[in-house]
Amino acid sequence: MRDLDELFTALAKSTFRAGFKLNSKDLAYLQQKGLSTVLDHAEAFIQSRLAPAVIENDGKQTPMRGHPVFVAQHATACCCRGCLQKWHRIPQGRELTQAEQAYIAVVLEKWLREKAKPA
Ligand SMILES: [Zn+2]
Repeated sequence: MRDLDELFTALAKSTFRAGFKLNSKDLAYLQQKGLSTVLDHAEAFIQSRLAPAVIENDGKQTPMRGHPVFVAQHATACCCRGCLQKWHRIPQGRELTQAEQAYIAVVLEKWLREKAKPA
């Protein structure tokens, strides 16, 4: 797991990661559901799609759009275990710990809070 300031500085330098934005549908969804409900969804995605030791479709389990959390996952490299290893130094091939799952939730929350701010 990485220091959040260091992580977000590195993400900002990646053209691919920094290119992700919430579209008007994502923003409307966030506003309608509220951040805390959306973060509950994030926890559920982390638990079911990232936490298991073995994930059959790793690298393809997170859609590119359709939920603000999916966008946040790609923007912060919390989309698959390969990216979690490369960007967050969380090893593949074993179940995520509670602390790692909580860390990913904090990363996603930080990104969503920043992007949900009115410009
Ligand atoms: Zn990935």
